[in-house]
Amino acid sequence: MARIIAIANQKGGVGKTTTAVNLAASLSAAEKSTLLVDMDPQGNATSGVGIDKEALEATVYNGLLEEAGAVDLLCRTELEQLHILPADPDLIGAEVELVAADGRERRLKALLAEIEDNYDYILIDCPPSLGLLTINALTAAEKVLIPMQCEYYAMEGLSQLLNTISLIQQDLNPRLTIGYILLTMFDSRNNLSHQVGEEIRTHFNRQLCETVIPRNVRLSEAPSHGLPVLLYDIASKGSQAYLDLAREIIQAEV
Ligand code: ADP
Ligand code: MG
Repeated sequence: MARIIAIANQKGGVGKTTTAVNLAASLSAAEKSTLLVDMDPQGNATSGVGIDKEALEATVYNGLLEEAGAVDLLCRTELEQLHILPADPDLIGAEVELVAADGRERRLKALLAEIEDNYDYILIDCPPSLGLLTINALTAAEKVLIPMQCEYYAMEGLSQLLNTISLIQQDLNPRLTIGYILLTMFDSRNNLSHQVGEEIRTHFNRQLCETVIPRNVRLSEAPSHGLPVLLYDIASKGSQAYLDLAREIIQAEV
């Protein structure tokens, strides 16, 4: 059975999608069969692995509405061991269309149940909100990975996210845990990065990943080429950091 990890933080721009794409690619490069699930209507994870959103006939949206099965939605990528359940802006509609639907919080869980045995890891890229799409991701996952950008307001809004996680643990998914806290866009020359990192460590010593993701321009360039960074510039610091993170997670999950 697959390890299912939701990558969540309702703040935008903290590195969720960058982490989802590059951790998924790095796990697949380590020969782990990996599925990336795009739950953000912006579809940045989808385009980030080279899928043309305009050309898609069906997306995760159709799966959530039970109009298509998971197998019919899967797309292959440049990496042999990496598949994606893609998203496009249609997904915005799901929040509204599912409001009155039966089991609306469990739609993604049901969709993944059809295919999870085919994968070692399933990573879910969440949108920057705590709405129904993120709730579906947290209900389907066994662990949450929270990327935190090392800037002044890093902890702001965190209590809301932790609150949502504990409500989901009570009602929808008792096995959910906060598996990993990841420091992103770390600038080692900047004192603030170190201070924020230390503050996060005092709260999450156990969950804080040893691997830290540095600020690295290659990570921000790779998506415009539709490539994970390891296919764009394997020697870059960003690429090496996500390969390290994959190794750390594979070790933690044995
Ligand atoms: P989110 O999914 O949380 O909104 P993204 O992963 O899209 O965040 O990252 C926001 C922006 O920051 C993107 O333009 C991305 O390319 C850039 N970015 C993310 N991580 C890094 C990093 N470690 N170094 C440099 N740029 C980064
Ligand atoms: Mg994103």
